[in-house]
Amino acid sequence: MRVIREYKRAESLEEAWQLNQKKSNRVLGGMVWLKMGKMQIGTAIDLSGLGLDTIEETGEEFRIGCMVTLRDLELDPGLNTYTDGAARESVRHIVGVQFRNLATVGGSIYGRYGFSDVLTMFLAMDSYVELYKGGIIPLKEYAKMPYDRDILVRLIVKKEKAAFDYQSVRNSQTDFPVLTCAAAKTEAGYRFSIGARPGKAVLFELADADIQAADVENMAENAAKCVKEQVETGSNTRGSAEYRKHLAGVLVRRAVCKLAGK
Ligand SMILES: Cc1cc2nc3c(=O)[nH]c(=O)nc-3n(C[C@H](O)[C@H](O)[C@H](O)COP(=O)(O)OP(=O)(O)OC[C@H]3O[C@@H](n4cnc5c(N)ncnc54)[C@H](O)[C@@H]3O)c2cc1C
Repeated sequence: MRVIREYKRAESLEEAWQLNQKKSNRVLGGMVWLKMGKMQIGTAIDLSGLGLDTIEETGEEFRIGCMVTLRDLELDPGLNTYTDGAARESVRHIVGVQFRNLATVGGSIYGRYGFSDVLTMFLAMDSYVELYKGGIIPLKEYAKMPYDRDILVRLIVKKEKAAFDYQSVRNSQTDFPVLTCAAAKTEAGYRFSIGARPGKAVLFELADADIQAADVENMAENAAKCVKEQVETGSNTRGSAEYRKHLAGVLVRRAVCKLAGK
C-alpha cells in the first residue's frame, strides 16, 4: 500500500517543479501506476489545477496537455481524423474505460514503459515533449533519456502529410501487449515504431527507395525483412524473442499493405 504524507494542488508549474526536486515527492498523473508501488510519498503534487487537461488543435499541430486522459485521446475527433483512428486503436485495449478515464498522457509518456501502446503510437508521429525546464525535445530523444525530475507539461504533435496505422498483439483482451506496431506513411517513406519487445518502443525509418519493389506485396515484404533484421526482441512470460521478431515482420507487412495506397 502507498502512504502519502502530504498533498499539494500546485498553483503554478514553478511550484510543482520546486516540490518535485525533493526525492521523496511525486507528481501525480492519474495515479494508476503510482498506486501499484509501495514506497512512501512525501508530497503528492497534483497538476490538475493548471489547465493542462485539453487537446488543442491548430493548423500546424496538436498540443496535448499532460493531464489529458487516455480516454480523451480515444474520443478526440481531430486526433482521430488526423490518424484515421490509429490514436483510438492504440489505447482502446488498455484495461477498461474507467481506467482510461484516469490514466494520463503525462504519466504514460513520462513512464516510457516498455509495454506502452501510447509511447509506440506517438513515436511514429512527429512528436515532441515540452518539459518545464528542459524545453521542447523530440519524443524519440526523450524516449532514450534517463528519468529526471522535470515536469512533462505537454506532448506536441506536428501535423504532416502522412497516413497512420496502429496494431497490437495481445494474448487476451486488456492484457499487456506482446508486441505493438505503429506505422506512418510519409512523403519520404515509412516510419515504424515497435514496442513491447518487451523493451520500450524503438523507431525504424525506411525511405521508399530502401524497400522499392514491383508491387505492394513485395514492398511490404522488403519492409518487414528490414525491420525484422534490425529489431531487438527479448523473451518474457508473454512471448519469446523469436515469436516477437516474427510478429514484428507480420505487423509491418500488414501496415505497408494498408498504407501503401494512401
Ligand atoms: C494494470 C495496468 C495495466 C496497464 N496496461 C497498459 C497497456 O496495456 N498499455 C499501455 O500503454 N499502458 C498500460 N498501462 C499504463 C497506463 O496506461 C499508464 O500509462 C500508466 O499507468 C501511468 O498512469 P498515470 O497517468 O495514472 O500516471 P501515474 O501513475 O500518476 O504516474 C506515473 C509516473 O509518471 C510520473 N508523472 C506523471 N505525470 C507526470 C508529469 N506531467 N510530469 C512528470 N512526471 C509525471 C509520476 O510521478 C510517476 O512516476 C497499464 C497500467 C496498469 C497499472
